[in-house]
Amino acid sequence: MNFISTRGSAPAVSLSQAIAAGLAPDGGLYVPQQMPAPRALRAGRSLAATADALLQPFFADDRLEAELPGICSEAFDFPVPLQALATPNDHVLELFHGPTAAFKDFGARFLAASLSRLRAGQARPLTIVVATSGDTGAAVAAAFHNQPNLKVVVLYPDGRVSPRQAHQLGCLGDNIHALRVAGSFDDCQAMAKQALGDVELQAQVPLSSANSISLGRLLPQMSYYAHAALTHQAIHGTALNFVIPTGNLGNAMAAVMARALGVPLGRIVLATNANRVLPDYFAGGQYMPQASVATLANAMDVGAPSNFERLHWLYRGDDVALRAAFVSRPVDDATIRDTIAARFSRFGEVFCPHTATAVQLLEQLRASGEAATGEHWAVVATAHPAKFESVVEPLIGREIPVPPALAALLERPAHADPIEPDYAALRAVLLG
Ligand SMILES: *Cc1c(COP(=O)(O)O)cnc(C)c1O
Repeated sequence: MNFISTRGSAPAVSLSQAIAAGLAPDGGLYVPQQMPAPRALRAGRSLAATADALLQPFFADDRLEAELPGICSEAFDFPVPLQALATPNDHVLELFHGPTAAFKDFGARFLAASLSRLRAGQARPLTIVVATSGDTGAAVAAAFHNQPNLKVVVLYPDGRVSPRQAHQLGCLGDNIHALRVAGSFDDCQAMAKQALGDVELQAQVPLSSANSISLGRLLPQMSYYAHAALTHQAIHGTALNFVIPTGNLGNAMAAVMARALGVPLGRIVLATNANRVLPDYFAGGQYMPQASVATLANAMDVGAPSNFERLHWLYRGDDVALRAAFVSRPVDDATIRDTIAARFSRFGEVFCPHTATAVQLLEQLRASGEAATGEHWAVVATAHPAKFESVVEPLIGREIPVPPALAALLERPAHADPIEPDYAALRAVLLG
């Protein structure tokens, strides 16, 4: 299968080329030339086997085609439980059992497994440059750690990520180089962008990115929706509906694509924090990117959701059809806090601030009857609450045990080199 740009003025490329490139040369996002026909999928298989079956048409005729089963079993070696919540017919899909306790582990691990195979036998390593405000960099660093022929340089704003996040970035070492930038996240992103556009530098040091528009992160995220929905249907005989905490729309876009491939997924509802570009659009307004505002669900602090362009493409630019297909509502910080506190005191359930936006929306849909009593719904838990202990612990009045994989990372000593917010400094590091 070939992949084209959402903007339509870049040549069609193979899957491997699209994965290696990240962004298309015309500034668009890579999408399949045509969506594959719905797949006959069956329940009862592992996550890795489900991923393999679902992703085969995208890998057809690519140089990675024969590698797909190996990539899936290497990337997806941790559980994705679908658990019942205390409220009837409500469930939670836990995506936080990977090495850094957030759903970004799925995409980052699949991308690392793919790129390491594409780079095999090359004389020089490929360096992934990532600017991060926390979660993405941690998932990418953990996924690429000790992968042969790959290096990671991760830039984060010094003092502006949580101590636990900074620790996760600096504790790996080996082929992972953490740089703490004396500046903002925007400075980090500008430095990374400049490096990725520096042709002269790349003649000596091959570079790539790993941001949320990468196909190598998007496609594998369909797998957990397929696994959960197929399992659920086999047990209950009904499609599962989802409420998804949404920032750049990468996670939700994967659900939409999985449904288009025949996965028995019902409705898809998008929960945002106070950044309400998507809710305003789905309520009938124009799509208008804005500066992001800081919230408790900080991994969703997005004012220009990058995958919107893909969603718009899938609906052939038909705003009316697109608006009719989704519900999206914002949840403010006070309501996030109330939801976390109330679910704990009523049911003993503990959620991270991102997941709490989805829990809140599901409560609203149940109360209004928009989600009928007999329907089965799942909220998507995008991170373990222990990653956001400074928000969650005061609300529930107790300590949250840290999951073992994350605890192992936190026990390692951490080191990050200081760097000025200046491209020349980064260039020197990359050449060094
Ligand atoms: C990245 C992230 C999100 C948002 O996901 P998108 O794919 O950007 O919509 C939500 N929750 C957590 C914990 C995240 O790390």
